[in-house]
Amino acid sequence: MGNSMNDSSALGRLGFNSRAIHAGQEPDPLTGAVAVPIYQTSTYKQDGVGGLRNGYEYSRSGNPTRTALEECLAALEGGARGLAFASGLAAEDTLLRALCSPGDHMLLPDDAYGGTYRLVARVLSRWGVEFTAVHMHDTAAVAAAIQPNTRVIWVETPTNPLLNIVDIAALAEVSRQHQTMMVVDNTFASPYLQQPLALGADVVVHSTTKYLGGHSDVVGGAVVTRDAEVGEQVAFYQNSMGAICGPFDAWLVMRGIKTLGVRMDRHCSNAAQIVRFLGQHPAVSSVLYPGLPNHPNHEVAARQMSGFGGMVSFRMRGGEEAALKVCELTQMFTLGESLGGIESLIEHPARMTHASVAGSPLEVPGDLIRLSVGIEDIEDLLADLTAALA
Ligand code: PLP
Repeated sequence: MGNSMNDSSALGRLGFNSRAIHAGQEPDPLTGAVAVPIYQTSTYKQDGVGGLRNGYEYSRSGNPTRTALEECLAALEGGARGLAFASGLAAEDTLLRALCSPGDHMLLPDDAYGGTYRLVARVLSRWGVEFTAVHMHDTAAVAAAIQPNTRVIWVETPTNPLLNIVDIAALAEVSRQHQTMMVVDNTFASPYLQQPLALGADVVVHSTTKYLGGHSDVVGGAVVTRDAEVGEQVAFYQNSMGAICGPFDAWLVMRGIKTLGVRMDRHCSNAAQIVRFLGQHPAVSSVLYPGLPNHPNHEVAARQMSGFGGMVSFRMRGGEEAALKVCELTQMFTLGESLGGIESLIEHPARMTHASVAGSPLEVPGDLIRLSVGIEDIEDLLADLTAALA
């Protein structure tokens, strides 16, 4: 193959980090540039009417920088087709319109990311999609909630912000029996720690804004399908609805992905030390982290994840007031929404990321704090939390 990594059988044999660095990212055929160029163009010269070069005609339909990212995403999740979008919610919206028609029903986790819940409950419901919110970690409850018109089972694991764990393989079996499509939002784990398609899911979605991008400098989303035909259907909706990832954003996400493995290792080890610290702190009433042996689904997490991730939630004995105070006192943990970047963030879900689900079954407790543990030096992170909790 002479210095070429990108025929699919060669790629399939590569390890995760090698795929992250090479999949879809052959040196540029024109110049040999090792980094994929940012093809900042809206259109392409045709060699005679309809004479497209490599299939590119207009950048909503296709752009070589986005193609490189899409091939890389598919290779990382082990899917047939990857598609990159303007945001995680754009990916979700496009996917759900491709999979569902008005009158179809979907199951949604009762602790789904608030934006996903809002999309389904307040936007797609107006288009005629029905939904039921269920405890996804209760496989029997999921099976019981399936209706004749159920088309999609939407899974998030670990969940945001309560870090519940759902047994992907068990639910995939339920989904297969009822001929529904199972979608897993893999944002919190990233493909480095969890491979939902290998566990039987049909589709993976991501907010690439988070661990894949990894540097808090880009908003993006992704869909990866196990099946090429489903991928083609979503690609049709991607082009028809137009919520594509632009070339510079695609480049930023791809640049982030190259270091995903080393970043995740560090996120996991920093998080584990913070969990230990919080677990012994008198001001903390409980710590929510799938790596803890007393987590209700620790065993499932240990089976389906190769590490427990960088997200940690905890509850304060002093209630909402105490939680708000901690969020305002940390210095290195920046008070802000989002997650998955190299810098540590702290937030109060009830008043920030999950404010939109107040009063719904997805409402989160006021004494809850969520940390996105970054890759700074652990001593500095612990000193910051020690001071804020004092
Ligand atoms: N899924 C999860 C688990 C998220 O945390 C988020 C955003 O926080 C999204 C989806 C939506 O992604 P985006 O903000 O890129 O639209």
